[in-house]
Amino acid sequence: ATPRLYIITPTYRRPEQIPELTRMAQTLMHVQNLHWLVIEDAENKTQLVSDLLQRTSISHDHLVAPMPQLFKKRKGPKPRGVSNRNRGLEWLRDNATDGVFYFADDDNTYDIRLFEEIRTTKQVSMWPVGLCTKFGLSSPVVVNGTFVGFYDGWVAGRKFPVDMAGFAVNVQFLLKRPKAKMPYKPGFEEDGFLKSLSPFDPEEIELKAKNCTQVLVWHTQTKKNEASAALDLGKYNNTNLV
Ligand code: UDP
Ligand code: MN
Repeated sequence: ATPRLYIITPTYRRPEQIPELTRMAQTLMHVQNLHWLVIEDAENKTQLVSDLLQRTSISHDHLVAPMPQLFKKRKGPKPRGVSNRNRGLEWLRDNATDGVFYFADDDNTYDIRLFEEIRTTKQVSMWPVGLCTKFGLSSPVVVNGTFVGFYDGWVAGRKFPVDMAGFAVNVQFLLKRPKAKMPYKPGFEEDGFLKSLSPFDPEEIELKAKNCTQVLVWHTQTKKNEASAALDLGKYNNTNLV
């Protein structure tokens, strides 16, 4: 049987939430044997999100995991999506026995071929992420089929200078590491999580996407515009007209 994919998606309420999740759902609808964990940074589930998930044929769980107040109130960069992803890990520990998981943000762009690359992950796999950092790309560097280092525009002393969208982990590998979790540390979420998978070193990374020569996911970001501002102010209520 082909390994099951668990897709952990943090999301939060904003005017772009339903458009982002619509695009993502209609990508995931093309992928077999997948379970989607949609985890809202909110106290309560958003009805529009529940409705969207119901309309798709995707196997899913809809959960909530609000960002702790301490971080929410903090000025400057916030640990976005961390409470949600840790809730996803907790769900896996309670419900999954095998397969592969992937932290997939709601605003990225995914080529459906990526999911078949991810599926064969035995421990931890990695691949390039496009439109990412000032280098335009974040990726393991591969020479003659061997991992030699990382290419990323923001290394900052990280052991694993990679993007959230650039790696997947085998569920059994996670379950053998009961302490593995993501730190509330803006900019260091990936590094902190991957370090928490110790014992695991960069040399052991499984290289996907044709030895990291293909870009199958992009760190796209949706631009806020006057329409989002109007909706944020509650000026119009048409996001409820779904
Ligand atoms: N997110 C969240 N709460 C927030 C901000 C973001 O749950 O307060 C989610 C968001 O929906 C996305 C992920 O966390 O799936 C990363 O956020 P974002 O895309 O804004 O970050 P960036 O693209 O800058 O890494
Ligand atoms: Mn994003």
